[in-house]
Amino acid sequence: MTTVIEKNQKNGRLEVGTPLLEVKDLHVEFHTRDGVAKAVNGVNYSVAAGETLAVLGESGSGKSVTAQTIMGILDMPPGKISQGQILFRGQDMLAMSEEDRRQIRGQKIAMIFQDALSSLNPVMTVGAQLGEMFRVHRGSSKKEAREKAIELMERVRIPAARQRVGDYPHQFSGGMRQRIMIAMALSMEPDLIIADEPTTALDVTVQAQVMDLLAELQAEYNMGLILITHDLGVVADVADKIAVMYAGRIVETAPVHELYANPAHPYTKGLLRSIPRLDQKGQELYAIKGLPPNLLKVPAGCAFNPRCDVATDLCRTEIPKLHQVSDKDGKELTGRRSACHLWKETLHG
Ligand code: SF4
Repeated sequence: MTTVIEKNQKNGRLEVGTPLLEVKDLHVEFHTRDGVAKAVNGVNYSVAAGETLAVLGESGSGKSVTAQTIMGILDMPPGKISQGQILFRGQDMLAMSEEDRRQIRGQKIAMIFQDALSSLNPVMTVGAQLGEMFRVHRGSSKKEAREKAIELMERVRIPAARQRVGDYPHQFSGGMRQRIMIAMALSMEPDLIIADEPTTALDVTVQAQVMDLLAELQAEYNMGLILITHDLGVVADVADKIAVMYAGRIVETAPVHELYANPAHPYTKGLLRSIPRLDQKGQELYAIKGLPPNLLKVPAGCAFNPRCDVATDLCRTEIPKLHQVSDKDGKELTGRRSACHLWKETLHG
């Protein structure tokens, strides 16, 4: 019997760099009794095969709403896609029939959620849940589906997979349950995985193990990976590029190491300062002042201005565009953009 893993290796995956997903000028709003909340306001990003994009932001920044829109799991109403395109391998998913969309979302794009316990069915064994994907989508027999479930459990390094295939989700630790979620996402050999805060509920050591596993599998299969997180510390070692979101907009994009070394937006700078560091033991941890805005009452101008230490009058009246960023000699920096009136001072100051 050809196994999932062998099939992958024999057939090969998409070439690294093949464009997979392109989100273009996406606008998503929520119609509430108190008004219209613009949760996603003109978002653009892309991810290619073998590439990891980290989408970073506090709650309410629009990062998860964008992901839910891509996956087609946004509640509509109250949600409404008012503008934009979501291109998967060049085809606009928003203009497709529901059936075509479902095919892509079930088999080509998979999602991993934060809380594995509430995402898994508590009254079905993990083997039955993993095997169900093969029975429904590939017409596998019960026996074949069980073997494939064991194979996937081994692939995500669940010890004694053959003995544990009949266990229920609550019999596994949090880290092991998240591995089962990863196995489910992998089962249909997707081109793209969207992981929404996949390690937030785990302790730091298990977090690192799960992130390493995700990164390893992603590289092995040349999948695209969109990693949604509020924690810059989690993505440093695994992401290729980062899009930082604030109040429904992308405020900075950059290759990951450049962003860490030298951010071009005061919000990113603040997020970096708030990461605990071993060499600053005993010092008070920095926190960005204030809270993210209520999306029904976003401040005029730059939405970050009430929390920004360097805001000027211009910041309070004019929304900054996402500028191409350049070095001190004016040479454009590839992949680097910032939505700040003072990006030059922030980057070069
Ligand atoms: Fe701060 Fe102004 Fe830049 Fe906004 S545009 S981040 S308020 S300096």
